Amino acid sequence: MMKISGTTEVYGIIGQPVRHSLSPAMHNAAFAARGLDKVYVAFPAPDAAGAVAAIRSLGLAGASVTIPHKQAVIPELDRVDPVAAQIGAVNTIIRRDHELHGINTDWLGANRALSEALELKGATVLILGAGGSARAIGFGLRQAGAEIILASRTPEKGRALAQQLACPWVPLAQAAEQRAAALVNATSVGMSPESEVSPLPAAALAAFPVVMDIVYAPLQTRLLREAAAAGCHCIDGLAMLLYQGAAQFTLWTGQEAPLEIMRQSLLRELQNR
Ligand code: NAP
Repeated sequence: MMKISGTTEVYGIIGQPVRHSLSPAMHNAAFAARGLDKVYVAFPAPDAAGAVAAIRSLGLAGASVTIPHKQAVIPELDRVDPVAAQIGAVNTIIRRDHELHGINTDWLGANRALSEALELKGATVLILGAGGSARAIGFGLRQAGAEIILASRTPEKGRALAQQLACPWVPLAQAAEQRAAALVNATSVGMSPESEVSPLPAAALAAFPVVMDIVYAPLQTRLLREAAAAGCHCIDGLAMLLYQGAAQFTLWTGQEAPLEIMRQSLLRELQNR
């Protein structure tokens, strides 16, 4: 057990709902492993402006931001990192010299996970989906110098994101005809309880040497099972989740994150659901 005292620095996650969040377990395990006098709690917060005002007035040292507040917190902050501003979403708040800064570590997590398997600069990556995660991953891949093809279900939404990413868009039904060094599923297809569906037919997967699924419930999605059978290098949803959290830990503490401890705490949480 961590010892909580009058000097303990408080961090938290703001969103609605947040009681199911994996972040408290991951960050508290990391703080404890490094012997830091810090604690991380979940704050169900219906209103983004009110939550940021509370972070400010209560002197929280930092926070994670989740659905539905990733966009709405932006005007409430003193500074926003340029990539987070491009993405239009902040998932991390850090207090610096009495100011609140907004950063996005989702793209850092995705890039780190992918770059363990391939050199991103110059590589073509097919992203499935045009939602919040696809957006963060897309802008992140552009930062890394990758070429993107975007494939999604709803044409207007997909075309609008592709235009911002300056990349081609294809309907999801044509994704199987594309060729790329990596495929990233950034849709919620395959997520529990509908875990027996996959966004692409198994026969198409051999065309993608690396396949990353960001869905983490379940970790072994049908897409990843079929990609492994097709000989692809597979990256599960834990990697992005872990590395975005590790980037938060380093921003908040200035220390390297205890990755293995964080990974084990995430796995334990996922197994207990
Ligand atoms: P989101 O903003 O709601 O976007 C969901 C995307 O999935 C949209 O593009 C949507 O299509 C598409 N989609 C949903 N159902 C579909 C279907 N039946 N057929 C085709 N496309 C479908 O959600 P998000 O926040 O990006 O999250 C997406 C997934 O990533 C979730 O499973 C979430 O748990 C997971 N996630 C993982 C991490 C991680 O660190 N591993 C981080 C964040 C999220 P339209 O374009 O038609 O709307």
